[in-house]
Amino acid sequence: MRRLVVATHNEKKGQEMREILVARFPDLELLTLADYPGIEEPDETGTTYAENAVIKAEAAAAATGEACVADDAGLEIDFLNGKPGLQSKRFLGENTPFEEKIAAILEQMAGIPDAERSARFRVAVALARPDQPVHSFAAVCEGRIALEPRGTGGFGYDSIFLLPELGCTMAELTPEQKHAVSHRGKVLKMLGDYIQAHSAIVQSH
Ligand code: IMP
Repeated sequence: MRRLVVATHNEKKGQEMREILVARFPDLELLTLADYPGIEEPDETGTTYAENAVIKAEAAAAATGEACVADDAGLEIDFLNGKPGLQSKRFLGENTPFEEKIAAILEQMAGIPDAERSARFRVAVALARPDQPVHSFAAVCEGRIALEPRGTGGFGYDSIFLLPELGCTMAELTPEQKHAVSHRGKVLKMLGDYIQAHSAIVQSH
């Protein structure tokens, strides 16, 4: 495998996936769906993160004829019975600014003590190649919903996702620090191990 298409239209997510993969596989030619104008992401009709990741990766592999990797992620908040979860992207409307989504979550959790603010990011990635079986991997990053947004890094829900061991939110980390602890960093390490074990062509670090 010499070329891999990161199959997402989410610019920030695509950037993170590229950063993580390029650090490990410097000789891999990494493309994104931006290199294939006109290809649309399919509807996320799966009932699990893994199903959605497979839907996205397989659709991209069929459309590009290349090996494609896609991820599907969500934030699960225990106090909200696991919401927004699989609906994280569509929570309060897909185009609603994150400040509003975050404000709504914090409002629903006003006055709730730390012990009841547990949450996790869950992610699945799928690797699809034309005419080969698809493979998927899953990872989790445990944390807590902060009392208020902090930090400007990352994207999405990062500014309210507190990492208690580090004493900061994901949005307060540098990209490298985030990748070292995040759900996406973990799951792409699994994918990287798989690629490394099954492809002699790619030179890895
Ligand atoms: P999807 O995987 O594209 O369906 O994204 C699910 C939702 O979770 C989107 O609203 C993303 O912005 C958000 N999300 C995914 N990954 C992260 C992350 O690493 N940090 C914060 N929010 C994220």
